[in-house]
Amino acid sequence: MYKYRTYHKPKRILVTGGAGFIGSHLCERLLNDGHEVLCLDNFFTGRKENIIHLLNNPRFELIRHDITQPILLEVDWIFNLACPASPVHYQYNPVKTIKVNVLGALHVLGIAKRVKARVMQASTSEVYGDPEIHPQKEDYWGNVNPIGIRSCYDEGKRVAETLFFDYMRQNKVDIKVVRIFNTYGPKMSLNDGRVISNFIVKALKGEDIEIYGDGKQTRSFCYIDDLIEGLIRMMDFEMEVGEFTNDYTKSRLSGFPGPLNLGNPTEIDILSLAKKILDITNSKSKIVHKKAPPDDPRRRCPDISLARKYLEWEPVFSLEEGLRKTIDYFEKIIERQYTKG
Ligand code: NAD
Ligand code: UDP
Repeated sequence: MYKYRTYHKPKRILVTGGAGFIGSHLCERLLNDGHEVLCLDNFFTGRKENIIHLLNNPRFELIRHDITQPILLEVDWIFNLACPASPVHYQYNPVKTIKVNVLGALHVLGIAKRVKARVMQASTSEVYGDPEIHPQKEDYWGNVNPIGIRSCYDEGKRVAETLFFDYMRQNKVDIKVVRIFNTYGPKMSLNDGRVISNFIVKALKGEDIEIYGDGKQTRSFCYIDDLIEGLIRMMDFEMEVGEFTNDYTKSRLSGFPGPLNLGNPTEIDILSLAKKILDITNSKSKIVHKKAPPDDPRRRCPDISLARKYLEWEPVFSLEEGLRKTIDYFEKIIERQYTKG
């Protein structure tokens, strides 16, 4: 049985992007485990509905703030999640996306340096770009287009990682970097634009399911509860701030800042995903094909050996189980919308 290290000691924890999909699940879990939570969000893609049930909790505080602007706060831990994650949303204002990643990282690192907080960056599998190595391991440097329409996100997250490691080496800031692979679950918005929510919503409404390209591109989907457990275990993983070596075999177990892959290693192609969702929802929706967006990665699957070894973590929810829970959620939301007219 996995044992937490200092997690159960109550802490004051800042979650940037706390009203978003992952952030709101994280806030809820941290509150349930006895922590004080500061949820910071500018509500670009986040929603009050995601956290409304937490507002009466005296250990919960909501701060409407844009993390591209500096802010002074006193906290023990910081999870830096603020950044639109769906391609539709991060491409809406690409310059702003770069600002969130770069200025946002500088601001949370500034807080961490000043108050000696531990700070985690929510990085992404997108740092691997369209990978030539499969499955992707943390020591793979990636194959990223620096000037494409996904670059604001991919390169923004890569610079954020660089800043985290430079603050660790230069200022001895206690950092954690996790590379999150495609994650899904309840509380994604109806108009999130990512594949699972798009397919489920279309299937439930009986509308055409649109596959971009031939549907042979693959992804590996992690259910939200599994991801949250991984984020917490990594954050709780004690490190001694000091010399850091990028050679994982030499680094002391206690000195592991990442980067660490968190995701479900079960790979599925997008066409099979569409068929699975049609099957579970018993939907009559048709599958149609649309032009593939530029730079759409062909394959993506995490190698999670490091997470298994250091955190004794691996996903426990199968895709089928996770999809059923997510479909239940969207069914209720759509039903409510119809009732409201
Ligand atoms: P999301 O869009 O639901 O949440 C992002 C949150 O950040 C929203 O609440 C949004 O309002 C907030 N935000 C955006 N810009 C901000 C700003 N300037 N100041 C303050 N708040 C701001 O996305 P998510 O899926 O919850 O992703 C959360 C984090 O995890 C992101 O950093 C994303 O890059 C990373 N990530 C997510 C996935 C995934 O599959 N969900 C995969 C890889 C990485
Ligand atoms: N996709 C699709 N139809 C949709 C949304 C996405 O075929 O309605 C494809 C998209 O082109 C990509 C995959 O599904 O190949 C995953 O897309 P998503 O936006 O969820 O995440 P990302 O590309 O960032 O992994």
